[in-house]
Amino acid sequence: MAIHERKIGMRIVVLASGGVDSSLMMFLLKKEGHEIFPLFIDYGQLAREKEWISCQNLCHFLGLEPFRMDISGFGKSVPSGITDSKLDIEKNAFLPTRNLLFLTLGAAYGKVKSVNVIAIGILANPIFPDQTPDFVRAAQNSISRALGADIIIMAPLISLDKRDTLRLARKYGLPLDLTSSCHSSSKEPCGHCISCKERLAAEAYLANEKF
Ligand SMILES: [Zn+2]
Repeated sequence: MAIHERKIGMRIVVLASGGVDSSLMMFLLKKEGHEIFPLFIDYGQLAREKEWISCQNLCHFLGLEPFRMDISGFGKSVPSGITDSKLDIEKNAFLPTRNLLFLTLGAAYGKVKSVNVIAIGILANPIFPDQTPDFVRAAQNSISRALGADIIIMAPLISLDKRDTLRLARKYGLPLDLTSSCHSSSKEPCGHCISCKERLAAEAYLANEKF
């Protein structure tokens, strides 16, 4: 099965961060009638508490209850700009093995819930090596071997960019004000991290489009 294909009525662990992409993905999968198990991972990110509030609010909006998994020591052991306020939030944004870890933990949580499908909200135009279609396929193979049972990793947004996800979010009435896209710990979006810059650029581009 290709990483953007789906069958009917699947049980899916969704990696949910409270951001636009994962929230839209969760919304679309729920709308298609799948049973969703939202998983929020606290890996020691600076933004974890505001992300968790956004994740809970978005999940409740969709009638779902997220589970919070705590591996906060990881971000302290492997510091990056998104886990350590002393590092540059933009230049040091890469956190090694983050998405592989997310998918592995998603599969482990799925094992507990008898779910073998994990959805991750990565988009087109990858910045990091763990955001590519090749990576998703390789992770699916590796984690399946590690479990001794086949899992499916789906990345349903992988052909979309940030403009597309914002368009879809607006089209379907996803409450964007509940989402949190900034990597910093500040209450308001910092405007400097890669996530803020990506969202601001997409919003500026879409500002002239009619909805
Ligand atoms: Zn930011």
